[in-house]
Amino acid sequence: MTSRSVITGGAGFLGSHLAERLLAEGHEVIVLDNLLTGDLGNIEHLLKDRRFSFIHYDVTKYLHVGGKVDFIFHFASPASPKDYLDYPIQTLKVGSLGTHNALGLAKAKGAVFVIASTSEVYGDPLEHPQRESYWGNVNPVGPRGVYDEAKRFAEAMTMAYHRYHGVETRIVRIFNTYGPRMRLNDGRALPTFMTQALQGQDITVYGDGSQTRSFTFVTDLIDGIYRLARSKEHDPVNIGNPRELSIMTFAEKVKELTGSKSRIVQKPLPVDDPKIRQPDITRARTKLGWEPKVSLEEGLRLTLPDFERRLKAAGPLVLG
Ligand code: UDP
Repeated sequence: MTSRSVITGGAGFLGSHLAERLLAEGHEVIVLDNLLTGDLGNIEHLLKDRRFSFIHYDVTKYLHVGGKVDFIFHFASPASPKDYLDYPIQTLKVGSLGTHNALGLAKAKGAVFVIASTSEVYGDPLEHPQRESYWGNVNPVGPRGVYDEAKRFAEAMTMAYHRYHGVETRIVRIFNTYGPRMRLNDGRALPTFMTQALQGQDITVYGDGSQTRSFTFVTDLIDGIYRLARSKEHDPVNIGNPRELSIMTFAEKVKELTGSKSRIVQKPLPVDDPKIRQPDITRARTKLGWEPKVSLEEGLRLTLPDFERRLKAAGPLVLG
């Protein structure tokens, strides 16, 4: 029988890629999204598929979906530092009330529940690379606290529904992911650097650029999430590419790829910006047989045409 999947936040960057993968695997897909940071343009091409439906809905309100549901992927949330600074209360609400509602729906339907968690649960980490057993170093009252704590609460709530109600739950800790469809002005490093490089503007590196991140190409991430959903793993699983590089090196790579003449300039480092980040993916390797396949160079090449096309349509943007 066909699986039926609900994706909250399915009109966002990751949700829309996940929807495509699930359709390709033969699922019916129902997307719920209030379009706060999502975009109908991300799923327009899926609307003509009879197995796909979109409901404009705020999942912090009571949730009802008719018929059977096999999987619920709770992916709704502002997800870039700029977005959760712009929408702090919505971020807290979707991580807490939204997670509670989505778990309630999973319980009622007997569905597998997958929560999109984040490497941000590790905060500015004191353990490196980060294993799932690390509890993190998070400032609850700093500007990033609204996201970090909402996701930490969401993980706690998910484990409570698993332990107390026996819901089949999965927790994916997503590390920095990039690829086509990232919002041009979401403020993250990749869309900002690509836009600046392609438009010949200064590329804005925050701080001295020595802080590190480990970037995963979106199809690798989605493959890890798909494997996790089908596994029996209740404990959190890091999905990310362990190749770590400094943000300055990342900016240089984007500049080189685009052949841009932009200058790389430095701007103040945001408060609580993590200094290092790299996933330990032993658990994903051993439990899911997963590891990333797309190199950073290849992933950037695959991302470039989408940015060129959308920037042509959007016209000049000033970012950073
Ligand atoms: N960053 C930067 N310039 C920008 C945007 C981001 O130097 O225009 C830095 C940011 O300070 C952080 C890293 O790039 O150290 C990754 O930032 P992003 O917002 O992509 O995600 P984060 O990993 O901080 O959630």
